[in-house]
Amino acid sequence: MLYGIISDIHGNLEALNVVLDSLGQAQRIICLGDIVGYGPDPDACIEKIKELNIATVAGNHDKAVTGELPTDGFNQNARGAVLWTKEVISAKNLDYLKRLPLVLEEDDFQMVHGSLVNPLEEYITNSGNAYPTFQMMTRQLLFVGHTHQPLRLSFKSKEIINPGGVGQPRDGDPRASYGEYDSKTRVFTLHRVAYNIEKVQAKMRTAKLPLPLIDRLSFGR
Ligand code: ZN
Repeated sequence: MLYGIISDIHGNLEALNVVLDSLGQAQRIICLGDIVGYGPDPDACIEKIKELNIATVAGNHDKAVTGELPTDGFNQNARGAVLWTKEVISAKNLDYLKRLPLVLEEDDFQMVHGSLVNPLEEYITNSGNAYPTFQMMTRQLLFVGHTHQPLRLSFKSKEIINPGGVGQPRDGDPRASYGEYDSKTRVFTLHRVAYNIEKVQAKMRTAKLPLPLIDRLSFGR
């Protein structure tokens, strides 16, 4: 099966649409959380995910918007975007976010937003902090998101892969990041695709979202 692997959309519909177009070959798409937060189109992004029947786990921003996760750990800009999202999101999409699971298993992989130790909040950035998660894995492969930076780690026969962020990349490349995984050949490929950043930034200005969140999209930081 050929899978599209996406994460951290963050209400960025322009980036999501370009990524989905690029994933035309994929038979199934999975999402590693944070559909909303930061960006101007939370409802439209959730609608798209539902329409395409994309299997999704919850991210910290998704659960902050539902009120299930306190925003104490969020910086001022992130918290501002959570509050804005709470105001605009539809009741049925809020209900969809509430029902998102923390961990999913499919085929030969598991999926989680942060880590298996702390599904919503832990950042896996190196083999040191990945170690407890490797120990908890019940399948050979685990897809994670949360850092918005592509990463690939292995330990014995197990692998952890982060496809980077669709809607707010943070590795210095402003193009949307996503992956493709072929479960038959067990080959993962990382992809980058340009999208209309200015259009998203204009929507964010109209919505009066925090300026640093608007600026950072230009730099991928
Ligand atoms: Zn995120």
